[in-house]
Amino acid sequence: MSFKDLQLNRPILRAIAQKGYDNPTLVQEKAIPLVLDKKDVIVSAQTGTGKTAAFALPILQLLFDRQEGPKKGKKIKALVVSPTRELAIQIAENFTSYATHTNLTSTVIFGGASIEPQIEKLKNGVDILIATPGRLLDLHKQDQINLDYIETLVLDEADLMLDMGFIDDVKKIERLCPSTKQTLLFSATIPYKVEQLASSILNQPKRIEV
Ligand code: AMP
Repeated sequence: MSFKDLQLNRPILRAIAQKGYDNPTLVQEKAIPLVLDKKDVIVSAQTGTGKTAAFALPILQLLFDRQEGPKKGKKIKALVVSPTRELAIQIAENFTSYATHTNLTSTVIFGGASIEPQIEKLKNGVDILIATPGRLLDLHKQDQINLDYIETLVLDEADLMLDMGFIDDVKKIERLCPSTKQTLLFSATIPYKVEQLASSILNQPKRIEV
């Protein structure tokens, strides 16, 4: 299978080609059509399988189809929650490179760094936000983030997120997003507590294992 078979459009295909990817990985092949179809999905995949592009590419595609051009005051339409700052930064770099030929914008916020520059970045408006849970809730409480327009929520490394004690934060974040959103849960392993979280927040999820 090729990326073209996955119904991705030209600006995204160009970015993929520039990254030097020849063909989709297995998790991309399985996840991209379901995400484009707006299904909730639970994916068990390790880092290194190409899982970041498995959610980033179709999210960009969905938003690209009705992007409004480079203007200020964009609403956040996709939110990716990640357990660690390093992972969040990596995900954000992926979004930036895949979105090179679009007008879609993203930014990353995380704890352990000063909050002011992050508030500044959010003021310009972004389509996609990548965040660690604590800082996200903090900035939401300070009215710097509006989650009312979220269409797709991604919980990345859900098992790690729970191991790090973020369960209540994750549930709170999920409740702050519209109930109509699509939710994608990625986890290296699916232990019972991830299964429980999934059943409490996902809506008839499709399952992918790689
Ligand atoms: P991830 O599992 O998302 O951490 O990705 C692992 C690595 O695989 C990253 O360096 C990606 O840039 C790379 N990658 C993702 N998708 C592909 C692909 N289809 N072909 C080749 N490399 C890829």
